[in-house]
Amino acid sequence: MTKTILIALILLSMKSYSEEKPALFDDSAYKHTCDTNFNDEFVLSEYSDDWFQVYKTDKNVYSIVEPYQYQESISHLIIGQNKAILLDTGIGLFRIRPVVEQITDLPIIVINSHTHFDHVGGNWEFSNILAIDTSYTKANMAGFQHNRIAQDFTDNSFCIDPPINADLENIYTKQWEASEYIKDGDTIDLGDRIIEILQVPGHTPDSLALLDRKERLLFTGDTYYDAELWLYVPETNIKNYQNSIDRLVTIETQVDYIFGAHRTVRVDTGILKNVREAVKKLTSDKNLFEKNDINQLFIRIDGIDFVTAAPVLEGKQGDISKGGSGYDTW
Ligand SMILES: [Zn+2]
Repeated sequence: MTKTILIALILLSMKSYSEEKPALFDDSAYKHTCDTNFNDEFVLSEYSDDWFQVYKTDKNVYSIVEPYQYQESISHLIIGQNKAILLDTGIGLFRIRPVVEQITDLPIIVINSHTHFDHVGGNWEFSNILAIDTSYTKANMAGFQHNRIAQDFTDNSFCIDPPINADLENIYTKQWEASEYIKDGDTIDLGDRIIEILQVPGHTPDSLALLDRKERLLFTGDTYYDAELWLYVPETNIKNYQNSIDRLVTIETQVDYIFGAHRTVRVDTGILKNVREAVKKLTSDKNLFEKNDINQLFIRIDGIDFVTAAPVLEGKQGDISKGGSGYDTW
């Protein structure tokens, strides 16, 4: 073997090492077992109970996790001097308001990272809800009938015996109302704490992120969390998602921590630029999917996992005026 060929081979192998090819992954990696505690590094607070795990994740920030149901949904409570924001209200199996009221007695402003069922379950418990003014959001305010969310409440959805005092046969998402509408660039003054609203459509038309510039925190909802990113349902718009990620990448250098809405309560900043690169590959590699295949595709790109589908990757979007629970299919 000549020296040139040897060098060429080394260079080739380096390239394939640094640029992993997009590959389908086995979704069983995410099967819910309760064995894995992704939040071990944080201290479980005294406000936790049999259903909700409450972690103190920053100065006057509490993250309320529902770890025993496979969504592992997380609602974040951001407390100022005069008021507090509750970002999302959980899956709605148990009331979240009593948990929140143990942590703070300040007035609560509810904001939803988006209106999929696993983020608005406890909205009905609150009277002050700020929402994005889209037809999608308004349709979702009617709540979700049992059959639209039932698949999330089967025995397999839990990693413990399903809670005996929960009515899984009849559970539905109760309707709720917005007290006011908010839009991109609005700020909410909690008293010595200003929270900015960033509209980041893509995962849904009404997805938003919250930015606390002073404390250098970014709350990303389902636009980014530390698990498989769900870009599958008909209300998802991949082009908008890409633009939103691009925007958040420009902001992540100004923050220290990112708080997603599932599984891990808080991650270090820096991950969003990897998501941006992975999404670029996801949308440009036409060999990843068969046209007309409407089944879920599980795709791993450079360590970022996606659950998606051919119509989404082809840039299609369903009828967003009728809302969407997060479980509607193509
Ligand atoms: Zn969602």
